[in-house]
Amino acid sequence: SATIPPEYNADGPKMPRFDYSPPLYDGPRTAEILRKRSEFLSPSLSYLYKKPLNVVQGKMQYLYDEDGKRYLDAFAGIATVCCGHGHPEVVQAIVNQLGRIQHSTVFYLNHAIVDYAEILASKMPGDLKVVFFTNSGTEANELALMMARLYSGCHDIISIRNGYHGNAAGTMGATAQSIWKFNVIQSGVHHALNPDQYRGIFGSEGEKYATDVQEIIDFGTSGRVAAFISEAIQGVGGIMELAPGYLPAVYKTIKKAGGLCIADEVQSGFGRTGSHFWGFESHGVIPDIVTMAKGIGNGIPIGAVVTTPEIAEVLTRRNYYNTFGGNPVCTAGAHAVLKVIEKEKLQENAFVVGSYLKDQLKKLQEKHEIIGDVRGRGLMLGVELVTDRQEKTPARAEILHILDQMKEMGVLVGKGGFHGNVFRITPPLCFTKEDAAFLIDVMDIAMSKL
Ligand code: PLP
Repeated sequence: SATIPPEYNADGPKMPRFDYSPPLYDGPRTAEILRKRSEFLSPSLSYLYKKPLNVVQGKMQYLYDEDGKRYLDAFAGIATVCCGHGHPEVVQAIVNQLGRIQHSTVFYLNHAIVDYAEILASKMPGDLKVVFFTNSGTEANELALMMARLYSGCHDIISIRNGYHGNAAGTMGATAQSIWKFNVIQSGVHHALNPDQYRGIFGSEGEKYATDVQEIIDFGTSGRVAAFISEAIQGVGGIMELAPGYLPAVYKTIKKAGGLCIADEVQSGFGRTGSHFWGFESHGVIPDIVTMAKGIGNGIPIGAVVTTPEIAEVLTRRNYYNTFGGNPVCTAGAHAVLKVIEKEKLQENAFVVGSYLKDQLKKLQEKHEIIGDVRGRGLMLGVELVTDRQEKTPARAEILHILDQMKEMGVLVGKGGFHGNVFRITPPLCFTKEDAAFLIDVMDIAMSKL
């Protein structure tokens, strides 16, 4: 039966000790929150569970509900809370900055902003050192696409089918799943074949998929393009690792056509993939523009675009700013996040614990027919459920049942993929081996009960 993970793992990364006694909560409860939510919040919002979860407190890799029940959080607010919920050093940095100055705008100087830009630039390869701060991943990608269009003098953008890049006008065009698209005009956006190693027609032969990008350029554009944008591992698309050899081949093709290569590191950055700090590094490429959000702030709303001085120069042609981008509270928080990632060796932990977890998931696959595929890197792992391994029929209903069962046993994981049949396991990077073992036990029990 499932074992309860210890509160503190002495062999893992240095994590602060917490008082893990359940929170005393006397605020509004589920029924009241649900009523207000359905009356006052947008109907586009949905929740994962049949019985919605009211989370009232977070401590490192744990969340607590209104009754004080503790959950192991293996989703981390969509791969966002990388240091852990309420990490004391991050909280302290934010509180300190709030006490100094809460907001300033780009019209004044403030050291919290440039200090963080400097340290962020030091994490980038090549000549990538000019930072523009945004409030989200969508905004970062919007800016990246615009810069590429200005720089190249071309309009055409190529993204990969099944990718997710945001939900504003430009990025919704680049996003390539029907479920995420409203009626936006997608002028000049082309969606290339997904180098999907599980369902794709060329299996793991990345270079074969890359030929589609040349075809798009030859037959869908003037021969010149503005940019190619892609994730290193598709997150929303169901933790799909791009087939090896794909990105280097595509980057060559795009450069020949005068375009810039944009790496969307919104989910895969900041050490989540374990082996590297940035996801693109595992493909051996250096992009022209890198966009990021989510893990950068551990939940504080901040994103960024990092590019070369030469490309950044295009922004001098007009006024371009946003009110909150580079807010000193957000940059001070993000600065603390980066320090914690380094001090607590969270990238290394993502590698060690992620490798262990992936091995265990593969073992589970031998036991449960419903697991069609296990994939991903570090602590960005996907488990695709199918009702028939041969046909790869998506197990849409089953995944919801397992998700609910796991929640009842105290483990939260995410769900995604085009067919909605993939578990997304993206916990805080302080996740321990014991946490991983507990998740496996719970998933095993939930699948056995199907
Ligand atoms: N890019 C990727 C890879 C994402 O996963 C997301 C969000 O899930 C975005 C961009 C958009 O980021 P945001 O939701 O912060 O606008």
